[in-house]
Amino acid sequence: MANGRGHPESSRKRCRCYRLLLLGLVATLATATERLAYAPLWTKEKKKVVVLGGGFAGLAVVRHLRRNFEVTLVDAKKYFEFIPGMVRPYSNPDLHRKLVVDYASVCKKMKVSWIWGAAEKLQGNEVVVQLNSSDQHRVAYDYCVVATGCDFGSLWAVSPTSGTRPIDRRYLEGRQKEIEKEYDQLTELADRGAHVAVIGAGFVGVEFATELKHYFPSLQISLASRSECCCPTMPKSARSYIQKYLDKHNITTYYQVEYPNEDAAANTLWTRFGRPCPERVFKSMGMRPHCSFLPPECLTEKGWVKMTPTLQIANGSEADLGAIDGKVFAIGSCIDQVPGVDPLPKNSFPAEEMAAHVARNIRRSARGKKMKPFYWPLLAGVSATSLGPKDGVLLLQRNISSGGMVALRGRAVVWVKEIIRWTKVDECKLGILGRLFWHFVH
Ligand SMILES: Cc1cc2nc3c(=O)[nH]c(=O)nc-3n(C[C@H](O)[C@H](O)[C@H](O)COP(=O)(O)OP(=O)(O)OC[C@H]3O[C@@H](n4cnc5c(N)ncnc54)[C@H](O)[C@@H]3O)c2cc1C
Repeated sequence: MANGRGHPESSRKRCRCYRLLLLGLVATLATATERLAYAPLWTKEKKKVVVLGGGFAGLAVVRHLRRNFEVTLVDAKKYFEFIPGMVRPYSNPDLHRKLVVDYASVCKKMKVSWIWGAAEKLQGNEVVVQLNSSDQHRVAYDYCVVATGCDFGSLWAVSPTSGTRPIDRRYLEGRQKEIEKEYDQLTELADRGAHVAVIGAGFVGVEFATELKHYFPSLQISLASRSECCCPTMPKSARSYIQKYLDKHNITTYYQVEYPNEDAAANTLWTRFGRPCPERVFKSMGMRPHCSFLPPECLTEKGWVKMTPTLQIANGSEADLGAIDGKVFAIGSCIDQVPGVDPLPKNSFPAEEMAAHVARNIRRSARGKKMKPFYWPLLAGVSATSLGPKDGVLLLQRNISSGGMVALRGRAVVWVKEIIRWTKVDECKLGILGRLFWHFVH
């Protein structure tokens, strides 16, 4: 009797397994067929794609196109850095090595060319790249993808001009030296119970202030922002959860404050607040795009890249591809709004979704097919904000102006972020587990 009852149960389980396997197989076949269908297999010579910037968006487009095109990656620094994890190494410098990938070795693995240099301008169908030396190099392209990102604040910016700083962040050694120096300084300030300020209460400023407080509890931390509250684009429930965390951990917040650039005016401001002048100020505000090398007519007043619905760079109006001929695309956090799509958050997920879409459009264009317009990606509104290493909020937003809702709070969010970090860095290294994990997502 026992056997008689066991049989249908185990065959049901087997059936479920087969169904799951079949589903996986269909999904893999669908992706592979889609890629093959658009691959220019009939041409002997592969078309040339130059990708400018090897952050989330740039590396993703390289991974998508590396087999069917002759791809060259250009980046101003020598390593990929998992920026969403970069708030922690300043309190724990050893962590930094887990967040970086060396471009030379990963490009060798992907069998694509790599040039260490900063894009200077686009001329004809060539990119002029300023190499580390005073030399310039010209790289010809059939398609070019601009993925040069933006600057979120002084600690996280590694721009082409980083080489002129006392410590050269473009080298991994320079970046690590800088992080250690910052860590030593913070340790010394914490020993004295000094006052430090974080300016900008967006998610980056909040994450950084809460990390500092956790690892250096004796620091007096102020968080100041021009907005009316912390993380103003988040829904109310998330904002009040974050504010409660800040209050509970004695991080003093000042809102609707226009922080002055001049020291004297800043000193007056702190006196008005009845606080000593901070001995260190971290600015995490005013995002600035890294695309000044593009023709001015392709940029908005604030320097963001003007877009067409198909993610090409627009020249003035969205329909006008002008001098750049429709062969130049832009993706990631350097872009302005995509016409017809709700504003996208400047996050890594939409950046990689744009990369996948541009890869498909380049394949279509190479086959003489019509390109498709971009859309709001389903998971673009998911974002996780950490509050120190033990707490956080995970949000679901339909779009950034809709408010959205808190899906998860507490330590579980930290685990989600850790899984994302581990798998993403592994994928960027071309590891099997990371690629498997993200294969069906983008
Ligand atoms: C502290 C912090 C925490 C964050 N946390 C999160 C998070 O939790 N979740 C999330 O989704 N997002 C987070 N973000 C945002 C996320 O990091 C960005 O949205 C993402 O990095 C954008 O990817 P990207 O490829 O467009 O640009 P980037 O990652 O900035 O890459 C741009 C690349 O272009 C290179 N470059 C720049 N100029 C040139 C040039 N002229 N020539 C050649 N190369 C050039 C740069 O060296 C860089 O490698 C965070 C950002 C910060 C600063």
